[in-house]
Amino acid sequence: MTPDQMIARIWTIRKANPGNLMARHFDEDYFRSLDEPARQRLERIIKTGIENPDSQMGAYAMNPDDYDRFAPMLDPMIRDFHGISAETEIAQKHDWDTGASPCDLGAIDARLKEVSMRVRVARNVGSFPLPGAMNKEQRVALEKLAAQAFARLIEDPAFGGSYFSITPGTANEIDAAEYDRRVKAHQMFKDMSTDRYLNVAGISADWPHGRGMYVSGAEDFLVWVGEEDHLRIMAMQHGGNLNVLFERLRIGLECLQDLLPAFATSPRYGNVTSCPTNLGAGMRASLHMRLPGLTSNGRDLTRLKREAKTLGLAVRGAGGEHSDAGEGGLVDISPSARLGVTEMEIMRRLYDGAAALWAMENA
Ligand code: ADP
Ligand code: MG
Repeated sequence: MTPDQMIARIWTIRKANPGNLMARHFDEDYFRSLDEPARQRLERIIKTGIENPDSQMGAYAMNPDDYDRFAPMLDPMIRDFHGISAETEIAQKHDWDTGASPCDLGAIDARLKEVSMRVRVARNVGSFPLPGAMNKEQRVALEKLAAQAFARLIEDPAFGGSYFSITPGTANEIDAAEYDRRVKAHQMFKDMSTDRYLNVAGISADWPHGRGMYVSGAEDFLVWVGEEDHLRIMAMQHGGNLNVLFERLRIGLECLQDLLPAFATSPRYGNVTSCPTNLGAGMRASLHMRLPGLTSNGRDLTRLKREAKTLGLAVRGAGGEHSDAGEGGLVDISPSARLGVTEMEIMRRLYDGAAALWAMENA
């Protein structure tokens, strides 16, 4: 594709797919002002949004410094997604003080004592390219580094557990049946090789090499290796107390940080992630809740999505992104904003939003 053809294609997408943020913010003058190597780099970043016109963001960073290097193109997209005006300065702040705001859903209604809670943060090791630009050797080397860190966690009675690899022929390799069981249990990530957004970006290349998952003995602290980001670090528990969940993640994250090379960060955007939607806190905190009334028993998410949006929440199906609601109206709700909000603000938004939806469900 010549630059002229590419630009023509982006204008077509802008008309047909107004939700595609890459096409919405593509700046022809800026693109043409770049030298050839820089143009090629930028083309690779936005390729997923060109090949997949229905993309929401339409770009994946390939290297940690892409956000600074290509800020004239990426910054407006980032602001648009995260709802930050052009005049507002972005400076990611962090706050993990779980003591400041008790967020126990079980105190609102005893029926919320058994909701399934999950909070994950995305992290990337600064010395490697991001997953879209890694080669097979780098993927395997990163997995080795991570496995060494997990070996230390496993020795620690506060964590214990095991590392499961899906890299063919390695120690800790699990078979297909065990992999499927872990996916169904909502622990392990899905087969990435069939995801067209990840394929075009190169993020799913070399599948399943360099991929795996650490699970603690109590199965409440987990780490994905080699998915959309180098690491997705998460706490998962049943029960409505978000403070307990967040505290588990904070402690696990601090331990891992000490055991691994420095993570990629940016003063402006906080934690650097493959997808610009995850910048900042890199955090998605979600609840699996049954909302049969608001979803016509899971058949129709239209009303729930509308109500959730006004509360700053996104709705996913019970099987994760791009899935449908589960039996009894089981859905995944999570605050949409990750950039310019602290970790504790995200927890508070999830708590307040869930309480509001629960009140609507029972009205
Ligand atoms: P992310 O992209 O934030 O890592 P996905 O939407 O890809 O999350 O989902 C990953 C997995 O986590 C899926 O199996 C999903 O069902 C599961 N999951 C998400 N939230 C929860 C939750 N609150 N309780 C249990 N499982 C969850
Ligand atoms: Mg995902």
